Amino acid sequence: MERKILLSEAEMPEFWYNIMADMPNKPLPPLHPGTKEPIGPEMLAPLFPMELIKQEVSTDKWVAIPEAVREIYKIWRPSPLYRAVGLEKLLDTPAKIYYKYEGVSPAGSHKPNTAVAQAYYNAQEGVKKITTETGAGQWGSALSFACQIFGIECEVFMVKVSYNQKPYRKILMNTYGAKVHASPTNLTEAGKQILAQDPNSPGSLGIAISEAVEVAAMNEDTKYALGSVLNHVLMHQTIIGQESIKQLEKVGDLPDIVVAPFGGGSNFAGIAFPFLRLNFDEGKKIRCIAVEPASCPKLTRGKFMYDFGDTVGMTPLLPMYTLGHNFVPSPIHAGGLRYHGAGAIISQLLKDGLIEAQSQYQNEVFEAGMKFAKAEGIIPAPEANHAIATVIQEAEKAKQEGKSKTILFNLCGHGNFDMTAYEAYLSGKLVDHEVTAAEIEASLAEIAPLQV
Ligand SMILES: *Cc1c(COP(=O)(O)O)cnc(C)c1O
Repeated sequence: MERKILLSEAEMPEFWYNIMADMPNKPLPPLHPGTKEPIGPEMLAPLFPMELIKQEVSTDKWVAIPEAVREIYKIWRPSPLYRAVGLEKLLDTPAKIYYKYEGVSPAGSHKPNTAVAQAYYNAQEGVKKITTETGAGQWGSALSFACQIFGIECEVFMVKVSYNQKPYRKILMNTYGAKVHASPTNLTEAGKQILAQDPNSPGSLGIAISEAVEVAAMNEDTKYALGSVLNHVLMHQTIIGQESIKQLEKVGDLPDIVVAPFGGGSNFAGIAFPFLRLNFDEGKKIRCIAVEPASCPKLTRGKFMYDFGDTVGMTPLLPMYTLGHNFVPSPIHAGGLRYHGAGAIISQLLKDGLIEAQSQYQNEVFEAGMKFAKAEGIIPAPEANHAIATVIQEAEKAKQEGKSKTILFNLCGHGNFDMTAYEAYLSGKLVDHEVTAAEIEASLAEIAPLQV
């Protein structure tokens, strides 16, 4: 049995897949928060280079990956796809389990797939500096690496609690030449406003986004980059699923179920959208499951509404499953999954029943990650452990039912910088936090006035 299925550089996909072309119902348009009218691409021009704005609204099914981007991708792509032989044995399951491993990228996650593309388009349009936010530090590391390659300055607003808890991610960004601030800062009006209300604010992704957007909006030669949620970001990640399809073809397999953890939707989209294309084009019935933490359950318990992408309310209003932009999730260890909303495309797909969502508790998640690490050797990112928890449950179901089943999941990053999270689990300090219905209702009531 082949354990590791590889593609050559020549077999690397040449196009990204744009699911907008195939969606039965397109996402609702983003709205101007003042007029509540759909915004035109020109409103995004201060923040993003023109080419990315075009991609954001494109309905072309295939978008060519620039040669210069493919050249950088070759540092780690095509990434390996593994048969989880050890995990199957440990679980004694008739299910076949495969995983696509994105932890081989320089930053250790799937995020460089879009960071490199975004830095490239910015460089093409003469941008000198890119600002961004980062939570756990994975997006900041990926963008720092990509900016360095294309000679662009990178300024990162890192959520303060992570800045203090994860010094190594900050140093990684510094090593790639980026400037990193603990957010909220007093460098921006948004940061000052938050600090005035709470000088000890631990920060949040929403606040850090507000800061990064403000700096980009105020400076002519500076743009902003987002690591998830937006249509073009999701599209850049589809190289993951396209490679997976080619790799599984080599061993004559196709999954019944595709699983990925869910923060803003980019790694889920990356692995799942190319398989959804097979559902659209070839009538396949592949189940795609997004897995979120029980403490930040926007897909399973949030509401489909218009909401801001950030906390202060600087972004357009986006149609999405959300817990409300003021929702502050409990400080769980999967920092990348602590976002209040989901992308417009993902939200529409979920609303239309074309994808599924589940939530998992933190202790179950880390128990799954421990099993995987012991059986396969790779230490998964805490985010990825959410997917592994669902994979194990599906594999156990297959065993009870005595049925074979093929499962593919996205091992979207390694957890080598996340030892404090594993330490907390090992010493029994992780708590299973569940949001109450009243907390969700109260947070959603605050965004009711934003509706059209
Ligand atoms: C950022 C991140 C996530 C969450 O973001 P998505 O856009 O939902 O993928 C999950 N896992 C890892 C390893 C990440 O770095």
